[in-house]
Amino acid sequence: MNIFRKNKSIIMAYKKSEQYDEDVTSGLIENYGNALRLLGEDPNREGLQKTPERLAKAMQFLTQGYQLDPHEILNSAKFHEDISEMIIVKDIELYSMCEHHMLPFYGKAHVAYIPNGYITGLSKIARVVDVYSRRLQVQERLTHQILNSIKETLNPLGVAVVIEASHLCMMMRGVEKQNSVTTTSAFFGEFEKNETRSEFVKLISAKLH
Ligand SMILES: [Zn+2]
Repeated sequence: MNIFRKNKSIIMAYKKSEQYDEDVTSGLIENYGNALRLLGEDPNREGLQKTPERLAKAMQFLTQGYQLDPHEILNSAKFHEDISEMIIVKDIELYSMCEHHMLPFYGKAHVAYIPNGYITGLSKIARVVDVYSRRLQVQERLTHQILNSIKETLNPLGVAVVIEASHLCMMMRGVEKQNSVTTTSAFFGEFEKNETRSEFVKLISAKLH
């Protein structure tokens, strides 16, 4: 007897599905179709027929952060722990979109905090970076929002966030500077002290592999 054939739920044990709001999707499809026409394209030609729909779904995916609450994410894995050493999650991949041109900016985020009785799951820190990145952003605000959400939920002794990113709006248009990287940082508590901040910067700059 083959249980895999008999019990379908075993074969379908894991299924990832995406859901989109129908009204939002159809509204966006219409608008993106018009935008293509205004840009001199023919939205009905073969290669573009499904483009407004793909774009409508991609944009909803890339802005899903509006519907998610970073405080809730951090609280969902908040544990009591008596440690007061610096915890660093570095090289978190980051993909966001600038709110001025709606073009991507991408790079890395480095986040550290010094607990004051509570820690959170390491993956939650990366999740919070994702949630704030999946909104229309400026890099400076993104940096501060990540810092504040950790500060407000964990009440730590200190928080530090550094983001290094390349902005397509600078690379593809405007000043066309292909190799410029923008670095932003925000520090709170212990990290406002020179010594702690230098230790953090040294640790995120170190190549351990
Ligand atoms: Zn821009």
